[in-house]
Amino acid sequence: MKDTDRRRYGFSIGYLLVALLGAWLFQSLIFRPFIQQQQEVPYSQFRDELGAGNVQEVILESERIYYTCCTPAEDASPGQVYNVVRIEDPDLVPDLVAAGVTFRATPPANSALTGLLGFIIPFLPMLLIGFFLFRRLGQAGGGAVMNFGRSKAKEIAGEMTGVKFADVGGADEVEVELQEIIAFLKEPARFTRLGAKLPKGILLVGPPGTGKTLLARATAGEAGVPFFSISGSDFVEMFAGVGAARVRDMFQQAKAKAPCIVFIDEIDAIGQARSGPGAMVSNDEREQTLNQLLSEMDGFEANAGVVIMAATNRPDVLDQALLRPGRFDRQVQVTLPNEDGRLQILRIHAQQVPLASDADLGRLAKITPGFSGADLANIVNEAALLAVRRNAERVTMDDFNRAIERVVAGLQKRTPLKPEVRRKVAYHEAGHALVAELLPTTDQVHKVSIIPTAKGALGYTMQMPEEDRYLLSDRELTERMAVMLGGRAAELVVYDETTTGAANDLERATDLARRMVTEFGMTTALGPVRYATEAGAGYLGYARTLNNGLSPETAAQIDAEIRRLVEAAQQQAVALLSDHRASLDEIAAVLQEDESITGDKVRAIAARGQGR
Ligand code: ADP
Ligand code: MG
Ligand code: ZN
Repeated sequence: MKDTDRRRYGFSIGYLLVALLGAWLFQSLIFRPFIQQQQEVPYSQFRDELGAGNVQEVILESERIYYTCCTPAEDASPGQVYNVVRIEDPDLVPDLVAAGVTFRATPPANSALTGLLGFIIPFLPMLLIGFFLFRRLGQAGGGAVMNFGRSKAKEIAGEMTGVKFADVGGADEVEVELQEIIAFLKEPARFTRLGAKLPKGILLVGPPGTGKTLLARATAGEAGVPFFSISGSDFVEMFAGVGAARVRDMFQQAKAKAPCIVFIDEIDAIGQARSGPGAMVSNDEREQTLNQLLSEMDGFEANAGVVIMAATNRPDVLDQALLRPGRFDRQVQVTLPNEDGRLQILRIHAQQVPLASDADLGRLAKITPGFSGADLANIVNEAALLAVRRNAERVTMDDFNRAIERVVAGLQKRTPLKPEVRRKVAYHEAGHALVAELLPTTDQVHKVSIIPTAKGALGYTMQMPEEDRYLLSDRELTERMAVMLGGRAAELVVYDETTTGAANDLERATDLARRMVTEFGMTTALGPVRYATEAGAGYLGYARTLNNGLSPETAAQIDAEIRRLVEAAQQQAVALLSDHRASLDEIAAVLQEDESITGDKVRAIAARGQGR
């Protein structure tokens, strides 16, 4: 048992104890008195009371009779509930009618404190215990509390998604790849007759938010077949055997509903390599689930009519066994959208949003390279929210611009900085912005702000590329680095001191320099050799550089080169800012005054400075 497991079991035992204690208290304080209050009496007594006209209300059940009555002779308070074992008595109903008593048969739900409660209360302690237990067990399964072990996919068994390719923007190439699958799902017989074999599994690979899940749903929608979906992350943190059972169940149901699509989202969560550098911690549960998945995939014919789709943003960590022929043997790359795609996506999401005449989606698509479909959807939504907040009828370009800022920089916090801090931050950001404007290859400044963001930055400089960049030269990279160090350079030029505010900038610059040296082979000292052993920044954006197999001399040389590159970039930035000190002062002054400055204004100031 691993440490985390022990803690988990420990937790559930703790909960169990609490539940038992609660149940005991409940039993002794509430349950007991209620039972005492609901007294069982002989049938003859019931008959006597009825004859004496003391009975007030009667509930007839198949085996029991409950009644309320007040007998002055007894100590019973009005409303006392008695219960009687029912005896075959054909005269009962006529007698009840004759006595003018209110009576009804089950279900007794309306009469609040009578039969129903008496029936439920004995079970309450059990329900309580069950609730706590299942909550622990079913934690990973989310809502699937009562049917853990059954496939979660069951809950949406055969969902008809109704999503079409028209709802997906900028993925035309992927859609073409998926057409064949759709044709097969629509008419499996045509394919089987010719003996054609289709890929069993299709793996959608791409960065987060590019619409992989959406595409899978649209594939089912286009083919008009049921969509079974399950997410790999559901399996993490689950008791042994449950994940495997779910996989088994899901495939069983899917086979019964064929043709259909089984979709495994975030498959990397179960399909991680079982050993090797990619594996984090060996996890028995995941391994069992993965093995079950593999054997299910092997277990049915390629033409059974079940198409398995899966999505991941980390193909590099997937277990090789998953990628073997007969399993996920076809990979489809889902990339970040280009300008055209971004426009399509913006149009799709703006359909329900009334746009003002100045809202130019084409312009938005232009200034949002690197944004995913989810980012763009988010921007449209944020813009609409901003318009609502203004009580406006239509969404304007200004709403969109502010929405972009929010999505990029996070929400702004309104805690004013002290004047001295404010001045430093203003110079720091002005440094980034001015260097970006003065260097020829760097992206244009879109906006600079010294309003602290929710993500903890004291200010930010937003650059917006005017086009998609696929290939970057060493010069472009060095100039980017100079922009990153522009903040620190401004501190040096103006204050001749450094602050902690540049920590993140330094990290990014160092990262970039490292990749230039070890991945891109861009320094003469080390030559065009790849030194990083792991794939560089994956989709998640971090480089796993294990310098395996590097001699200490080489490692030292790499460090020296990185340092040289970063220092050169800083010097370049310092030199530029010293030369354009007047422009730097001017931008910083505007920032201190207005808290933000547009890219156009920065450009105007920089141009004036260059003219001097
Ligand atoms: P992924 O699975 O690749 O992480 P999702 O399919 O979950 O991405 O995308 C999240 C949301 O982003 C979608 O529900 C959709 O609203 C939007 N979205 C992402 N990509 C696109 C796209 N290509 N076209 C339209 N909307 C998209
Ligand atoms: Mg997804
Ligand atoms: Zn900075």
